[in-house]
Amino acid sequence: MNVLRCVWLLVTLLVAAPAQAEVLVLDRGSERVALAAHVAHLVDAGRDLDIHQVRDAAVAARFRSSPEGRDLNLGITPAALWVRLELDVRPDGAGPWLLEVGYPPLDRIEVFHGDRLAVGGDLLPSSARPFAHRFHVIPLDLASGRQTVYLRITTQSSLTAPLTLWRSAALHANDQWQYSLYSGYLGALIALVLYNLLLYLSLHDRVYITYVAYAAAMTTGQVALNGLGGQFLWPEWVAWGNVAAILGIASAGFFGVIFTRQFLHTRQTMIRMDRVLLGGQLLFSLAIALAVLGRYDLALATTSLVGIAFAVAAVICGTLAIRQGNSGARFFLLAWTMLLGGGAITALRNMGWLPTNMWTLNSLQVGSTLELLLLSFALADRIHVERRGREQAQAEALAATQANVALLERSEAELEQRVADRTAALEAANQRLEASEQRQRDRAQHDALTGLANRALFDDRLGQAMAMAQRDRSRFALLYLDLDKFKPVNDSYGHGVGDLLLKQVAQRIAGCVRESDTVARIGGDEFVIILRAVSLADSAAQVAENIRQAIEKLFFVDGHELSISCSIGVAIYPDDATSGLELAQCADSAMYRAKEAGRNAVVLSNPV
Ligand code: GH3
Ligand code: MG
Repeated sequence: MNVLRCVWLLVTLLVAAPAQAEVLVLDRGSERVALAAHVAHLVDAGRDLDIHQVRDAAVAARFRSSPEGRDLNLGITPAALWVRLELDVRPDGAGPWLLEVGYPPLDRIEVFHGDRLAVGGDLLPSSARPFAHRFHVIPLDLASGRQTVYLRITTQSSLTAPLTLWRSAALHANDQWQYSLYSGYLGALIALVLYNLLLYLSLHDRVYITYVAYAAAMTTGQVALNGLGGQFLWPEWVAWGNVAAILGIASAGFFGVIFTRQFLHTRQTMIRMDRVLLGGQLLFSLAIALAVLGRYDLALATTSLVGIAFAVAAVICGTLAIRQGNSGARFFLLAWTMLLGGGAITALRNMGWLPTNMWTLNSLQVGSTLELLLLSFALADRIHVERRGREQAQAEALAATQANVALLERSEAELEQRVADRTAALEAANQRLEASEQRQRDRAQHDALTGLANRALFDDRLGQAMAMAQRDRSRFALLYLDLDKFKPVNDSYGHGVGDLLLKQVAQRIAGCVRESDTVARIGGDEFVIILRAVSLADSAAQVAENIRQAIEKLFFVDGHELSISCSIGVAIYPDDATSGLELAQCADSAMYRAKEAGRNAVVLSNPV
């Protein structure tokens, strides 16, 4: 702070020094002369001096020279600036010269040379200016000899007057590369604006359109400041040309704040800084309003002060965002550093601490171009980060879906297994049920001891045999068989042996008949046999005889040799009877006749 104060003191002292500017000698060697060291100036605070008064000796004594040959810079002032340039033109230096005032926003410039007056400034449309150039250039036709040129400058903008005297060839040569550099610069800005506009159209993210507005405003401000706007873009539109610079810069500040808030999400991540930025946004809009209302000076002062505060705030926000892990904020911070760097170099040059050259003169433009480029990078990085986030979210969603599918498949498999188990259990239960039903059916229809058909099944089979015989007009035979003297077997060997004998008898009878025939046990030692499809009574009698002989053979039961015989009565359907009952009676009585005849015999029934 103290250093700054000392510097300021020094500057004031030097400004106050009486005019000691040397007379500028123009000769053959002069082509381009920076005039700062050769001019004296007078600040006409009330704007009430005219050229005659200025030429008067009393006023002339009030002219002062610039400290250390720096370009004149009064800042924002309502005063008029008078500049005096004393020339000693040698014969080989005489001829046409061009006086350049290198600050386009100046409102009105009057050049007094002898009795001639030339007028420039941005309040004149391009076509009315004495020389077509981005700066204010006034042609001077210098005859040889001593002469004095006066300039009077008034403006609402910052009153800065970098003065250069050119031979036209030298200015032309200088312009060649300067204009091409500016074309490249302008092209880069336009490309950035268009590129981000396209990004906005495709991504619909508001931060891109804010960037576009910021870049467009910054570009407008810059082309107004460097004079290209006034020369090429709005050559005749004086009202606009006069406010374009401040309006562009104030709008750039306004959109720059919005961009910062959107890009760094300050409302969510740093509420206190967001309030500060919001305040800056309001002040920038105030500056815009002031510019629109014609208060150029107030607008410029507001924009400058808020701009400095905002630049600091943006750096703080960028740093905080980096600490919070916002990777895009690195580019953001670097971008602001570029702009601040450019601003600092400009300020240092204005103070005279840095030499005036192409780089220091254009450092703010270079800084702002680099800033716009880096901010564009920051936005691109944001796309990258967002895409990475989206891809990660997709991958997580996919993994979750896959896990769900796997879970579903597992539970489906478990369900299928359970259904299969249940089905198998049901089938097993069904089979058990069927088997038990079958057993019950068997028990209901069969004799428990021998396994032969019981009376119920016999009655059934007899009915069937009769139905088939009627249908086929065929015969069948019914045999009644009773064991002879069976009771004594029981008595001698016991009931158990009797049972075993009965089982063997049953097997022997079954062995003598066909599968389709029916053998039933209908009483203690009483059996009946249905012989299907017998053509003759004889063949039935033959089967009966076979059975009788089979029973006659020795039995081995429980270690005992047993001998037994049987008596068989044979009846033929329909020859002997046509009803079941009668047929049974026929067979039964034939059997009794066999018993009566002495047992162990086959007897055929007589027709009833
Ligand atoms: P017959 O020559 O006159 O037929 O004389 P039998 O001794 O065979 O006398 P009958 O046929 O009248 O009697 C049959 C006997 O069979 C009566 C009974 O003691 C015996 N018996 C009946 N059912 C069973 C049985 O299930 N098991 C055994 N072991 N004996 C039985
Ligand atoms: Mg018997």
